[in-house]
Amino acid sequence: MNINAIGAYSGTQPLEPMSITRREPGPHDVQIDIAFCGVCHSDIHQVRAEWAGTLYPCVPGHEIVGHVIATGAHVTGFQPGDLVGVGCIVDSCKQCDECFDGLENYCDNMTGTYNFPTPDAPGHTLGGYSQQIVVHERYVLRVRHPESQLAAVAPLLCAGITTYSPLRHWNVGPGKKVGIVGIGGLGHMGIKLAHAMGAEVVAFTTSDSKREAAKALGADEVVVSRNAEEMQAHAKSFDFILNTVAAPHNLDAFTTLLKRDGTMTLVGAPASPHDAPEVFNLIFKRRAIAGSMIGGIPETQEMLDFCAEHGIVADIELIRADQINEAYERMLKGDVKYRFVIDNATLSA
Ligand code: NAP
Ligand code: ZN
Repeated sequence: MNINAIGAYSGTQPLEPMSITRREPGPHDVQIDIAFCGVCHSDIHQVRAEWAGTLYPCVPGHEIVGHVIATGAHVTGFQPGDLVGVGCIVDSCKQCDECFDGLENYCDNMTGTYNFPTPDAPGHTLGGYSQQIVVHERYVLRVRHPESQLAAVAPLLCAGITTYSPLRHWNVGPGKKVGIVGIGGLGHMGIKLAHAMGAEVVAFTTSDSKREAAKALGADEVVVSRNAEEMQAHAKSFDFILNTVAAPHNLDAFTTLLKRDGTMTLVGAPASPHDAPEVFNLIFKRRAIAGSMIGGIPETQEMLDFCAEHGIVADIELIRADQINEAYERMLKGDVKYRFVIDNATLSA
């Protein structure tokens, strides 16, 4: 079937309307009418070929929510009309230790929602900046929020799970002091989630203008990271720091804020590397720097249910599909509170 989408034909061209095809649903497939799709910074990195290996045409988008319109004969968990989500994963080998453990995000043969090889035309996956998607039921998530919140649920499918998973893995909860670095799409979800988990939350931002806003999100304190004195006041005090910054920066400024055995986990994936961190800062207090990538399917469902239970959604600015290039420019300037979401109904024109 042919459907409308927006995407790019090369890394130096703006996104533009295009027609794409989706496979007919197979026995285990769910066909989804996409209502909204969030705009992640990873979309910019990939559509502009900042990371290696972008396949064109590139239709980004991995924060997908919508309604089921058809299901294959063997699908038992979903039926037409259901509110569902699709995140960053649409397939994996289903046979390795990671897949058995529900950590499909770490499967060596994971298929990302866009920009990954697939047998479907045109030979690589095409994402959620489109009217419909067809996905194996294993990778479809159930949305239990009220339908009126659907647009603001979309960013949970990447920004939500990418922050929830490391916060859980490193046991964030009551009695723990947690830093969230970079208050963008991921960071603002990190603040909301760490706060809901019961931790003491300190937000680190380079933008003075976000000081009050970050408190409203649930931060107990906000530090402008350019201010050395403010940083020094938190030296050796954090159990855990989640760093979401999309650009290379000085990691030592944050490792020195960890207490003994503290960990800073990097989820931001800049186009070029950070300067190497100072090893002595790690050695002296047995501190660690780690990484984390999105989350598996069971944990993504757990995160969605946690958010539905706690009334958590993203703070969004809804845009038309034809505003996407302008939205990218604004994201690069940090001018969004805190996630753009495309109204996919505007793709029908
Ligand atoms: P975003 O909305 O653009 O937010 C990034 C934030 O980082 C900005 O709002 C800004 O916060 C801070 N920042 C940006 N440039 C900076 C600079 N030069 N120096 C210091 N701070 C800077 O991006 P996002 O969608 O949250 O994504 C963040 C990063 O995570 C991207 O690299 C993305 O590709 C990556 N990502 C990784 C995963 C994963 O699985 N690991 C998943 C999704 C996304 P302040 O204004 O508060 O300083
Ligand atoms: Zn993302």
